[in-house]
This record gives sequence, structure tokens and C-alpha cells, in this order.
Amino acid sequence: MHRPIKSWENLPLPPEELERKKEKLQKLFAEVLTTLGFDWKNDPNMVDTPKRIAKMFLEFTEGNFTPMPSITVFDLSEMERDGVVGNIPVFVGPIEIKSLCSHHFLPIIGNVYFEYIPESKVLGLSKIPRIIKWLARRPIIQELFTRQVVKTFLEILNEVKGIAVYVKAKHMCMTVRGVNESNAYMVTEAFYGLYEENEELRANFLRKIKE
Ligand SMILES: [Zn+2]
Repeated sequence: MHRPIKSWENLPLPPEELERKKEKLQKLFAEVLTTLGFDWKNDPNMVDTPKRIAKMFLEFTEGNFTPMPSITVFDLSEMERDGVVGNIPVFVGPIEIKSLCSHHFLPIIGNVYFEYIPESKVLGLSKIPRIIKWLARRPIIQELFTRQVVKTFLEILNEVKGIAVYVKAKHMCMTVRGVNESNAYMVTEAFYGLYEENEELRANFLRKIKE
């Protein structure tokens, strides 16, 4: 067994260990069905359910146990020196995320909007959604996830003038149980660098989301 990790951490595992994890989960979910009182082995609709649930939970925690998608970073320093670049925000969104809430292990489905202002490096465009989706594939608390997106891109870019992240998501733990509030969204945002000081930049970012 690998060392236990925190819900937001990443510890890539070799495929054979993931396979062992799946087999173990399958046995445990079979035990859950038995404990609930189901004759699942003789029910054609349930006989493969432990296998399906095991696979599903591994899918939902993929971001914990697979390496971060590779990133293409382009160097802008020469253009920047020649004054070609300036402060140009790069906006990407909506990026659809499917996650799991740490409190109830029920799905969270939503959209992430991301913007950054390059310093000396720019990111390959398709990599931004890939990384955000990977970050979401683990049990999350939306408030912390929003900040984790900022932190991750800060580490990738090393030098960046600003980062803005906006997350709007529905939490199944709120829509299908508890208060049963099926139309409520949770909205969180996090800002770094120029966005912290410059209200106009923040307003422009939020306007693009509403468009
Ligand atoms: Zn929850």
C-alpha cells in the first residue's frame, strides 16, 4: 500500500498498483451491498455493480494518482523585450469540471473560467483545460480548489503578471439531499497579482464570463 495522502495531494501510482486498488475496492463495495441487505450476486442488474463503483471512484480520484498532464510553455521574453506583448489577458472558459465533494463523496459539476496575464511565458492553450480537469478529479472543497488552480499555474509559469479564476458549480450533496436545493450554484473566485490591485481587470474578466 502507498502512503495515505490528503484529498488535494497527488501521488502517481504505477498501473499494477491501481489495478490492486480496484480489486480491493470491488470487494469492499460488494460488502457494502451485502450490508445494505441486497442479494446482488443473483440480481442481473447488480451483479457487476461493485466492479462499476470501484471503477467510478478511481475515475473520480484520477487527479490524485496519475501524473499532471504535460505542459507546453512558450518563452516570450524576446518579444516582451521588444515591447510587443504588454499586458494582454488570456481568457479560457467555460472549462467543464466533474469532481467529488470531500464531505459527502457526491459529484460536483460545474464550470471554471481562467485568465492570466503572461510575463515571460505563455501556456499551450489546450493544456489549461487539461490541467484544470485533472485538478478537479479528486475530492475537493470548492473554495480550496479555486485557490489550488491559481497556485498550480503560478508554479507552472513561475513568472506571471496575474491570474484570475472563477468557479461556478452545482454540488449534488446540496441538490439531491439535505436542503434539496436543485437550482443553487456555488460561486468562488480567486485573484493573484495585477488582479488583486486592479479593479478594472477584475471587472473585465467577470464581464467575459457573463458574455
Ligand atoms: Zn458535500
